[in-house]
Amino acid sequence: MSQPSDTPVVTRIAPSPTGFMHIGTARTALFNWLYARGRGGKFLLRIEDTDRARSTPEATDAILRGMDWLGLDYDGEPVSQFERSARHAEVANQLLAEGKAYKCFATQDEIEAFREAARATNSSTHYHSPWRDTPASDHPDAPYVIRIKAPKEGQTVIRDEVQGDVTIKNSQLDDMILLRSDGTPVYMLAVVVDDHDMGITHVIRGDDHLNNAARQMMIYEAMGWPLPVYAHIPLIFGPDGKKLSKRHGATGVEEYQHMGYPAAGMRNYLARLGWSHGDDEFFTDAQARDWFDLPSIGKSPARFDFKKLENLCGQHIAQTENAALLHEIEAFLAVTGQPPLSDTKIPLLEAALPQLKERAKIYPELLDKAHFLLTDRPVRPDEKAAKALDPVSRGILKELTPHLQNASWTRADLEALLNGFAEEKGTKFGQLAAPLRAALAGRAATPSVFDMMLVLGPDETRARIQDAAA
Ligand code: GLU
Repeated sequence: MSQPSDTPVVTRIAPSPTGFMHIGTARTALFNWLYARGRGGKFLLRIEDTDRARSTPEATDAILRGMDWLGLDYDGEPVSQFERSARHAEVANQLLAEGKAYKCFATQDEIEAFREAARATNSSTHYHSPWRDTPASDHPDAPYVIRIKAPKEGQTVIRDEVQGDVTIKNSQLDDMILLRSDGTPVYMLAVVVDDHDMGITHVIRGDDHLNNAARQMMIYEAMGWPLPVYAHIPLIFGPDGKKLSKRHGATGVEEYQHMGYPAAGMRNYLARLGWSHGDDEFFTDAQARDWFDLPSIGKSPARFDFKKLENLCGQHIAQTENAALLHEIEAFLAVTGQPPLSDTKIPLLEAALPQLKERAKIYPELLDKAHFLLTDRPVRPDEKAAKALDPVSRGILKELTPHLQNASWTRADLEALLNGFAEEKGTKFGQLAAPLRAALAGRAATPSVFDMMLVLGPDETRARIQDAAA
């Protein structure tokens, strides 16, 4: 039985909280979010915390922070898989009552002996429990697990929106355990019960879960539940075609946040990682929501291209409205533990943003270009800038100051004034630029001298030039 096509879409991201939030998890979350949001559907978050030894609250927090930073809003509260274990056990017991599962009393030693014998004769090591057809009257009073009765013949076809039809011989499926002897449910059961109860219509996840799908389908089948639509997406590779790892660069979502990548650029790039819409590289969230579809997900692993990510991030910074950008920069400073912008600096930065945002790919780069306005008098020139403030240059700056006294503070007038002054001195504006950069920013590489003058205003500009000339 499959999902009726008119059911409203419900997708989910189901991370295991066992460390930091991997960039691959973020990409899977994004795909699910785009798919649901583009169809007026719901996008849910489930924390798969059944593995008590490996799950930590810190890892859950990292996932919540990552989702929040990436703007991947989910509907309702996050679901804890662990808290639902009673429900998982209930389903195992229902299957038992219906004869679709059975109590298996085999001991670990017996199972090991079976496997050894199977290996010796080169036959399937899938365990066939002798208890599958034993009547309850012959059951001992001993610990047992509940196993599903896997189909013995035929085949299971996973109809996958990305991989196509994937056929698995049922002889490959074993009577997997649903409930352990201590009454705890296994992960495979938990996933299916949760997806069903949460009304998940589309399971979009990494293709490392493709094999699980066949085993999970047995449970849907046994419960008579409609199957979700499956889309198993290829993993992310590094530029060298090997699975993305630390060797290639940052793999944690928060690392990117702390390095100052804009979330919109991350979303754009992650969407392109394994999915395409013609030749479009740069797009907005609204476009991505409109365009995103499962058939356009590639079958082969996408390679993480750090240059492309930076490039898209630069375009997104340039496209972000100033007020929103300011807000993001303030959030970046806060999350990286840097001092907040003071009330006097905020309007200056706002005034400079239209120029600055055209040239920065990440926030630290933008803040570095904003150094001239973030710094206070007296501006301390760095080593390179200090060289531009030799006695001759300082003399020229001194002469320049009175010219700026009643200057009209527009770009055109300032350009005319400085060019005129340079000519008077028998030189070119280019010669003036280095000492002016040093005076205004204390650096050799800065935004344009005129941009800085306009942002700093007449009083501050004159004062800085006077400081440098003295
Ligand atoms: N918890 C699994 C993981 O983090 C995801 C399971 C699923 O999506 O079905 O890889």
